[in-house]
Amino acid sequence: MDAGHYVFNDNTTVPLYLAHANEDPQMTLDYEVAHYPSSGPANVTMWYPRGSALGGSTAMNALIHLRPHDYDLNTMATKLNDTAGRSMRQYLVDKIENNLYIPSVVGSFLSYGYGGWLNTDYPPLNLLLSINNLDLQLLDILSAVITAVLPVAGSDYNGDPNNDGVEGGAAVILTKDSAHNRSSVRDHIIATNKVYPKRLILQTDTMATKILTCTTGSDVVAYGVEPQSVMPSFPCTVRSWGNLLVD
Ligand SMILES: Cc1cc2nc3c(=O)[nH]c(=O)nc-3n(C[C@H](O)[C@H](O)[C@H](O)COP(=O)(O)OP(=O)(O)OC[C@H]3O[C@@H](n4cnc5c(N)ncnc54)[C@H](O)[C@@H]3O)c2cc1C
Repeated sequence: MDAGHYVFNDNTTVPLYLAHANEDPQMTLDYEVAHYPSSGPANVTMWYPRGSALGGSTAMNALIHLRPHDYDLNTMATKLNDTAGRSMRQYLVDKIENNLYIPSVVGSFLSYGYGGWLNTDYPPLNLLLSINNLDLQLLDILSAVITAVLPVAGSDYNGDPNNDGVEGGAAVILTKDSAHNRSSVRDHIIATNKVYPKRLILQTDTMATKILTCTTGSDVVAYGVEPQSVMPSFPCTVRSWGNLLVD
């Protein structure tokens, strides 16, 4: 169930249209966040882009694929008192990533994942380097950036299995597939739905308005949500009709 729409268009598929995607009225949650210091009025109010669509913000994000640092996963596991957090790195390798830019014979020793649903690849450098698109000024800027800092090993921030604290210049790896389209959670949901149409039923434009719970013994257990299908009531979408009373 997702409060957002089923959105599948150029904005959600062509990587370079990501800026358009941020403003696509079908999915943008157009709200601002006020940051309050400990006392006094808000000192910064900023636009906070988020996507409401099948696949969530991954339908509009900047496609940058950075593997989480061990430090982050370990801290999260400790704070949440959940040791499963520590195995998340392996989960990324075993189940999620499908690396398209390093052959698996080499990459599997470097903790890259193969066979998952999230395709990862280098940005399309041919756009920049092809004779038809050659822009000397752009190349000049790019080479200045590249040579300004030492490159990281393998020129990829994800190339070091223990990448905590890696610093330097590197290519930014994108979540895109072999046809150069965006790769996202949406694709995974759609592919799973195709294989198991009876076990994964998709319901978009449907907002959960209440978490339903029951008690077993002394435990409170969530067993479902109450759906509301009048989507434009989701208050922070540009399609909002304003506040609505829900049952
Ligand atoms: C513009 C932008 C650029 C970004 N760039 C990057 C990047 O380059 N690399 C990167 O790693 N990350 C990036 N991110 C962040 C990344 O996309 C998000 O952190 C990630 O998608 C969050 O996933 P999520 O499932 O927690 O939430 P979301 O992706 O926000 O999904 C939440 C979903 O829940 C739905 N929902 C909310 N409330 C309800 C309700 N009551 N009932 C039913 N459905 C509901 C929403 O409609 C939405 O579809 C970017 C994000 C944005 C917005």
